[in-house]
Amino acid sequence: MTYTIKGKTGDWELVIGLETHIEVLSHSKLFSGASADYNPGVAANTQVSMIDAAMPGMLPVLNAECVNQAIRFGLAINAEISRTSKFARKQYFYPDLPQGYQISQPAEEPPVVGRGWIEIISDDGAPKKILIERAHMEQDAGKSFHDKHPSKTFVDLNRSGVMLLEIVTFLDIKNPENNGYITSPDEAERYLRQIREIARATGVSNANMEEGSMRCDVNVSVRKVGETKFRTRTETKNMVSFKFIKTAIEYEARRQIEIYESGGEVSQDTMRYNQDSGTTSVMRSKEDALDYRYFPDPDLLPLIITDEQIEKIRSEMPELPAARRARYMGDLGLSEYDAGRLTESVEISKWFESAMGDKPARAKSVANWMISELFAHPEFEMKPADLAELVDMIAAGEISGKIAKDIFIKMLDGESGAPREIAERHGLKQVNDTSAIEKAVAEVLAANAAQVAEYKSGKVGLMGFFVGAVMKATNGKANPAAVNEILREKLN
Ligand code: ADP
Ligand code: MG
Repeated sequence: MTYTIKGKTGDWELVIGLETHIEVLSHSKLFSGASADYNPGVAANTQVSMIDAAMPGMLPVLNAECVNQAIRFGLAINAEISRTSKFARKQYFYPDLPQGYQISQPAEEPPVVGRGWIEIISDDGAPKKILIERAHMEQDAGKSFHDKHPSKTFVDLNRSGVMLLEIVTFLDIKNPENNGYITSPDEAERYLRQIREIARATGVSNANMEEGSMRCDVNVSVRKVGETKFRTRTETKNMVSFKFIKTAIEYEARRQIEIYESGGEVSQDTMRYNQDSGTTSVMRSKEDALDYRYFPDPDLLPLIITDEQIEKIRSEMPELPAARRARYMGDLGLSEYDAGRLTESVEISKWFESAMGDKPARAKSVANWMISELFAHPEFEMKPADLAELVDMIAAGEISGKIAKDIFIKMLDGESGAPREIAERHGLKQVNDTSAIEKAVAEVLAANAAQVAEYKSGKVGLMGFFVGAVMKATNGKANPAAVNEILREKLN
């Protein structure tokens, strides 16, 4: 079902375009040799070269590692990589931008990463390709601190010059049938989570909104269901939380609908989001839009990328989470839910595959144990080989699921040794010996003559009661299949 908002004059749908910035991981900055580590733990203004401080006459030198990161991300989103792209200066003044301009890639020319797509699950549950218009390289600015002194502002340039990759979604204006864009707050979140997943899996960025390594400008417009043209959009700047992004989209859409329904026109404004009220308000209107006076950076040559460079990076690409999910479902028969949980991070997938080893038959039970037990105890560092041993013991009938759980709890409580060792230490082997089980069954039936009579007169639901009693009598060690069989034999 497409997400719509009911207005006084009918149903409205949303058109959403996202411009996402991710802070790219590299040893040094985009155009200087200074360390790109700008973490809060690093002393202010210690990772700043003459270039980042914009000393006169300093020349930027493009960092090849950063270019490779852009290519890597581009390949991961199925995008065209431009063989030639250029750098331009976007001019504005701000104390944390000593150059007086940001080096970016011009909007009118091909950026390093061209058209591509990212697949999300749409609101109707089907996969949907969100089209990407471009992803380009640019410099980040430094950071201003207004809260350290009553009358002074401090500037930290550690972040100045670190590479950002800006990823822009595409709206196929000439082809309104193509629905490859985001149409609801939830889809926006799913898209951003995909970006984060891809960025992390490829090592391009931590893409962490809380830490500021992923930020987003949110473009929203609305239109009546059935309309084929897009209407005017607004852009809400600098969003840093999934929750706020969703609230802002919904608020902004309702605001626009109200304007249209009361006979007004939406103007193409830049908005700010007010965290406390969950509302948006105009920051600047189109009339006073900034003119950045973009011009080609005379200090930088065009960036030329060769086919060999692209092929080398392609050959080193890790398996992406979406492909891994498909493999877990297809080859291993896991459910969509399980596959999703096991691909939440590269570490989790590695752990799972290590526990599974070369035995795909283990996959389902390893997945169950991980999802229901290990995820509930994140502090417990179990060895993959130990879980493998545990599920193998169950599969071989050595122990019951109940005993396995007991062993697991002992390990959780810090008991040393592998599962089989612990089982032996505590005599926790499953009893497969039929004579021992028969004895326990006989005792249970003798002690519960009334229930036996009821069972024989047709109350077959009592089977569970007998099984439970026998399991209890054997301290959970009896093989449940054998217990069932022997009980059935004795009761009929
Ligand atoms: P700008 O350079 O002014 O930010 P762009 O043309 O690069 O504008 O578009 C920015 C984002 O806004 C893109 O993701 C684009 O798809 C989206 N967008 C453009 N028009 C609309 C619209 N009418 N409704 C919603 N989003 C839009
Ligand atoms: Mg913009």
